[in-house]
Amino acid sequence: MTLIEALTNKNKMFLAGKWVSRDKKIEVLDPQDHSLIATVPAANEKDVLHTIEEAKKGAKIAADMPTHERIAILNRAADWVYEHKEKYAMTIAREGSKTIKEARKEVVRCIETLRISAEEARRINGETISFDQMLGSEDRMGYYYRFPVGIIVAITPFNDPLNLVAHKVGPAIASGNAIIVKPAPATPLSALLLAEAFEKAGLPPKVLSVITGYPSDMGESLITHPAIRMISFTGGLATGQAIMQKAGLKKMSMELGSNSPVIVLEDADLEEAVESTVSGAFWAAGQNCLGVQRVYVQEGIYRDFIGKFVNRTQQYRVGNKLSEETDMGPMISEKEAKRVESWVNEAVEKGAKLLCGGKRQGSFYYPTVLENVPADCKLATEEVFGPVVTIHGVPDLDTAIFLSNNVDFGLQAGIFTRDLDKALGAVRKLDVGGVMVNDSSDYRIDAMPFGGVKGSGLGREGIKFALQEMTEPKVVCFKVS
Ligand code: NAD
Repeated sequence: MTLIEALTNKNKMFLAGKWVSRDKKIEVLDPQDHSLIATVPAANEKDVLHTIEEAKKGAKIAADMPTHERIAILNRAADWVYEHKEKYAMTIAREGSKTIKEARKEVVRCIETLRISAEEARRINGETISFDQMLGSEDRMGYYYRFPVGIIVAITPFNDPLNLVAHKVGPAIASGNAIIVKPAPATPLSALLLAEAFEKAGLPPKVLSVITGYPSDMGESLITHPAIRMISFTGGLATGQAIMQKAGLKKMSMELGSNSPVIVLEDADLEEAVESTVSGAFWAAGQNCLGVQRVYVQEGIYRDFIGKFVNRTQQYRVGNKLSEETDMGPMISEKEAKRVESWVNEAVEKGAKLLCGGKRQGSFYYPTVLENVPADCKLATEEVFGPVVTIHGVPDLDTAIFLSNNVDFGLQAGIFTRDLDKALGAVRKLDVGGVMVNDSSDYRIDAMPFGGVKGSGLGREGIKFALQEMTEPKVVCFKVS
């Protein structure tokens, strides 16, 4: 029996503490060979409405749970994931497109996310307010504290099917909210395994649900229902915009995509820049919101950089994602690989030069590097979300910054230089949510504020920052005689 066959609660979803099945199912396929891994229920509108009603009760239970209990539950869930880490990694690697090595790193990060959530639960603090600063308020004293918003709906993408769910569930539980997760239909199993960790950890039923299936079967209540007080969405720009238009008056956290730039100046450590940029471009077959898509290299080192970058890319071992030797696995589907292929073809037809890659086999798309990509190509303006990098020569830093900013996205950027002035100037001028100096755009730890500007989203994740989004201040003022 393979690890994936050892999945408990087969063919079921987790609604308000109960594992339930439905006659209508969706198939979870391994994108590598299209083999059937599992089926999960295709939830319908009635399931959604039932789950929301249960979550109303869950929100009260969660809000009344003492902080020490929330901390203990989060730590026990982290322990559970740790004890079963290979099963979690195998699930990510089978249902998604990560290699087993990448999947193991995601599991480690998920454990970290849950532990940070437990720690931050201690620090959801308010502060005292000096009401006497206003004339006539000399006899007042008071403070504010933070209270949970109530019910949060988490809608998550396929590319980090465990840790991005933990980034919503961890802070929601830490802050005393109920949460309903709707995972991506391609990768629901990791989210269900996370629900199992919380069930084993003793989370009261009704606080957490993981509802599986296609949005088209579920109606719109997960987005429009007035009892839902916050939608925490991670996914593509178009989906995020569609959800925002329908949601009405609710809190929104929108973690969207990007086509991240990295700038490499002439004084950079070239070897380090190449190594880190190649890895930032091809991690998870480029299906990473922070993935490097555009590299702006100062002209003096341009040819040297290209030579080393292409050489390193060609060493990438593409293949069976379950093999320990593999560096890069397939894309999430053949359809996605074909889309990326068509974007590369468009760029080449318009005059771009293909330096390596450009080859597709089923759902695999080989690591691809291009130069001279015209500005009107999809590859130059949109998010490719695949293993494709475009490299551009630039005369100076100002040009690199202008081109970096000249898109509708702004999640993170990287800059390689040994010149502190230049680095700090770039930090100030780059229109993004984070700048990584001497690293690629895809560097992240789970405790840092994370989010973007422009088409990359609204609000911030990173546990401490998600906790702010998931709570509201309540002010208390005493009139003292
Ligand atoms: P997607 O937008 O297609 O889907 C995301 C989620 O939204 C899925 O669960 C999907 O089922 C759901 N969804 C789609 N239509 C919906 C609707 N009408 N109502 C309710 N839910 C709906 O994204 P994807 O292809 O799964 O993921 C890739 C995208 O996610 C990329 O753009 C990537 O950059 C982005 N992403 C962003 C971050 C971040 O933190 N900023 C992290 C990872 C991925």
